[in-house]
Amino acid sequence: MKLAVIKGDGIGREVIPAAVEVLDAFGLELEKVPLELGYARWKSTGTAMSEEDIETIKSCDAVLFGAVTTVPDPSYKSVLLTIRKELDLYANIRPVKPLPGIVGVTGRNDFDFIIIRENTEGLYSGIEEIGPDFSWTKRVVTRKGSERIAEFACELAKKRSNKLTIVHKSNVLKSDKLFLDVCRQTADAYGVEYGDMLVDSMAYSLMMHPEKYDVVVTTNLFGDILSDMCAALVGSLGLVPSANIGKKYAFFEPVHGSAPDIAGKGVSNPIAAILCVKMLLEWMGKPEALLIDDAIACVLQKKIITPDLGGGASTAEVGHKVAKYVTQNL
Ligand code: ATP
Ligand code: MG
Repeated sequence: MKLAVIKGDGIGREVIPAAVEVLDAFGLELEKVPLELGYARWKSTGTAMSEEDIETIKSCDAVLFGAVTTVPDPSYKSVLLTIRKELDLYANIRPVKPLPGIVGVTGRNDFDFIIIRENTEGLYSGIEEIGPDFSWTKRVVTRKGSERIAEFACELAKKRSNKLTIVHKSNVLKSDKLFLDVCRQTADAYGVEYGDMLVDSMAYSLMMHPEKYDVVVTTNLFGDILSDMCAALVGSLGLVPSANIGKKYAFFEPVHGSAPDIAGKGVSNPIAAILCVKMLLEWMGKPEALLIDDAIACVLQKKIITPDLGGGASTAEVGHKVAKYVTQNL
């Protein structure tokens, strides 16, 4: 197993080392391949990521990624989008689960669901035309693209409560009829119970009744918006991890960005990045991944927390404590 480790920019440089310390505590046979990509690299060399870097990433099995600050150059091609495309990471996964003692905007903590977002087509097809007086973007929905994301969601539903919610807007967007039909057919084939929701009602329902959902599957743009919204249910951007998964590769990144406003101070919350390590271990089929939940519950309970949660601990201190808990309880 080879893991590319990309700290990137800003707080990525703080949270990733903390997460790697936790990963190391598991003592797995794993070769880490550090890569320096991003804005800082672009400033010093003129490229944020080279062809050679892409080949190096492809020689690994998975990627642990911090954050890259967007390069202020119109010709810049997003590092993240390029990696997603090159590795064909078609499923974007966001677990939305409260952490002990922390409540988000709704004040509730009785939910535990996962948003599965199709990551390669929909309105992010990149097929666009921009004229002086009009512009359009093609919204692509294919049977193949819908099938593989529906299968992914059904596999996951089988491992959880066997319930799937399909989110779409097929009353207005004809392109969503295919997505909805394919998801329904796939769920039938898997024997998964399902319901469907229009995306606008879903946005409301997720805030009012997040406890009703388990596995949610949707197209690219809807998933992008809903999953960011749901970070507010959990409480802090510093607490939410994500994974991008394909047939061959997997890529793990905290939901937050490089947060230049707090970078370099050692106060960023590493919990999102540490939860990325949990997702990585789960992807590797390691049941000991669950120790990370216990370790995080322990630091939260002892108030070893960063300023975003009202504490005074540093990024590194939280990382050390979580790693120590893992070492002692493994
Ligand atoms: P980028 O352009 O790279 O996305 P950004 O300025 O949008 O950077 P984000 O990382 O998206 O910043 O975060 C928005 C705000 O949330 C930050 O300004 C920061 O104060 C806070 N924040 C984000 N992540 C964390 C974290 N891990 N710990 C503490 N605060 C965080
Ligand atoms: Mg941001």
